[in-house]
Amino acid sequence: MNPEELKITDVRFADIDGAPKRCTLVKVYTNSDLVGYGEVRDASSRTYAAMLKSRILGENPCNVEKIFRRVKQFGGSSRQAGGVCALEVACWDIAGKAWGVPVWQLLGGKFRSRIRCYCDTDSQGGGRDMGAALLERMKTGFTFLKMDLGIELLMDVPGALCAPLGFLETMLQYKKTVFSTPHGSIDPRAMRGDAYDLFNTAHPFTGIHITETGLDYLENYLAEVRQTIGYDVPLAIDHLGHIPLEDCIRLARRLEKYNLSWMEDALPWQMTDAWKTLHAATTMPLGTGEDIYLKENFRPLLESGALAVVHPDVLTAGGILETKKIGDLAEDFGVQMNLHMAESPVGCLAAVHVAAATRNFMSLELHSVDVPWWGDLVKPALRYDGGFIDVPNAPGLGIESLNEELISAHLHADYPVAWESTSQWDKEWSNDRQWS
Ligand SMILES: [Mg+2]
Repeated sequence: MNPEELKITDVRFADIDGAPKRCTLVKVYTNSDLVGYGEVRDASSRTYAAMLKSRILGENPCNVEKIFRRVKQFGGSSRQAGGVCALEVACWDIAGKAWGVPVWQLLGGKFRSRIRCYCDTDSQGGGRDMGAALLERMKTGFTFLKMDLGIELLMDVPGALCAPLGFLETMLQYKKTVFSTPHGSIDPRAMRGDAYDLFNTAHPFTGIHITETGLDYLENYLAEVRQTIGYDVPLAIDHLGHIPLEDCIRLARRLEKYNLSWMEDALPWQMTDAWKTLHAATTMPLGTGEDIYLKENFRPLLESGALAVVHPDVLTAGGILETKKIGDLAEDFGVQMNLHMAESPVGCLAAVHVAAATRNFMSLELHSVDVPWWGDLVKPALRYDGGFIDVPNAPGLGIESLNEELISAHLHADYPVAWESTSQWDKEWSNDRQWS
């Protein structure tokens, strides 16, 4: 069919579980046999995309920017942007297939043909155990590493944390419920009732402080990691825990000499002045971005000069083109772009095309290396041998088809039917105009 005649006819979903998170896969159908693949941000809700269906039915999916600007107002921070981004990605996929070119070509061509991946790594025990786990990653080819380093490690260390008496015990009680599942703090049970309030307490308001004993422990943990993996390989840290600015400064200063690539999400991204203060107090490179929607919300942080790294997720930032624009904006401020990614191979490939087409890109997160079937969710299977992903040259995202058998085998218990009708969303409507 002439791409000019394409129209969006339907939007449907399949939710899978254990990849390792909940992933909402999206198909955007057209009046031809072309189907676009997209994905809602990890641990989000299909509702964010479904509510947009009626707003894009009948539109030509190749007009990606036009569609994005129509639904842009329905995105928000973090998972709330999931619907807008899912549809944007699916439209790029269709546009590429319709015109016969890969998405990276539509973005202006590529700066690289294979994408460096960093491997987020979990480990039990101490710094030597984490070092050993990271060393295993390096043996499989990974050239860039990330690990968690924060108050989680201090929960059982006597005298390491200071908090209103009873607070940490309550937190541990909830975590026992939550961490018995593979979902961590994003398990729905951690986001209801009193647990909701606890896990949604921002850094300055938890009342948690790290003692000198705690700082010693974390510094020693990192020293042991570095003793094991050496200083040649880049290493970033994440999940400090919700501690106030002053404690971030104390911790950052302690860790400066271990040559970290960035300290991630030390503070809520919205607190620009606090980021600026943190940056002024330490030489630790700072990074944030996985919860930021739209280029304009990156701008204040970039203008503050606090960041060494932006770390957007394509499925939160506003989709493929908006993420490239964020990378380009960051480049203007001398800031590197790395990409957060904890989704299925669909979301991963969306990120791969952005990474290929954005000059200041450094590395892409892989969150599912320990899920053996993850790469097989798409055909051809997505491989990351040697810690790199080859940029596909096939049209669109480079996915021939989804692996429907595998999807069926891993459907989320709450959504046992894949790709069922979404006709209940066909009449969703409000007057969307934002002025009168
Ligand atoms: Mg993170």
